[in-house]
Amino acid sequence: MKTKHDHRTAWLKTGISRCMAPPGQTKQPYRLVLLGAPGVGKGTQAALFCEEFGACHLSTGDVFRAAGSLPEEERGPALNRALEYMRRGELVPDEIVLEVVSEQADCLRCPGGFLLDGFPRTIAQAKALDELLEQEHLSLTSVADYELSREKIIARLAGRRICPNCKATYHVTNHPPRVEGVCDNCGAKLQQREDDKPEAVRVRLQAYEKKTRPLIEYYKKRGLLIPINADGTPEQVYQRTIAALRQIQSCRAGDGVGRL
Ligand code: AMP
Repeated sequence: MKTKHDHRTAWLKTGISRCMAPPGQTKQPYRLVLLGAPGVGKGTQAALFCEEFGACHLSTGDVFRAAGSLPEEERGPALNRALEYMRRGELVPDEIVLEVVSEQADCLRCPGGFLLDGFPRTIAQAKALDELLEQEHLSLTSVADYELSREKIIARLAGRRICPNCKATYHVTNHPPRVEGVCDNCGAKLQQREDDKPEAVRVRLQAYEKKTRPLIEYYKKRGLLIPINADGTPEQVYQRTIAALRQIQSCRAGDGVGRL
């Protein structure tokens, strides 16, 4: 989904890009991590959130996909290696991910806050994020953990189609384009993501269970985790997210913790 804030997201350009037009100063910026298995709808939620709150949307998956559409000689060996992992559905090694994230550390300082979508995905990445934030004297507001059954995740990923041109996302049954296989916005031919094919999906879900699920406990222990039921329409899930964030906000204000 493309939002009016996409132009702000230097993140997508990969490499040395910087946030050229960060969101304006917000009194209480949200600094969120979106957690959850592939296919739960983190990217869609991030886009809805940024549309309303103007935070920087930082998606490591988007960075790697954008790198994939560059000519090979422009990518550099590390990104070429990352793309190999990605095509198989495996996690990209931590050192490559962390290099990409450090290059984009400017986005973490955005006065409008940020949404980390698909990062961190391992405990090592979460610890590295803690260090990056500490250096910047920043702290996370919350970690939204989207929960959905395995059957529903597989159905969502199998039916997902993307526009290679404008990045709009569709689903063959839940959100079909007006003309089958053609993007409503720009008329390009829709594609299935390489890593949404069944074998890669199996590998991605395994990687999630083994490497990413432990982050739930990691953030729960820090009092940051908000579990959110990811079943339903994007709008319903979004409303649940906002309600949960507001509730936490008012609890913390009552406790005098006041993280937001
Ligand atoms: P996503 O769009 O977030 O599902 O990411 C697509 C793919 O990019 C993943 O299956 C991984 O191969 C790679 N990837 C994205 N973010 C990370 C990360 N934080 N750590 C490791 N691999 C990642």
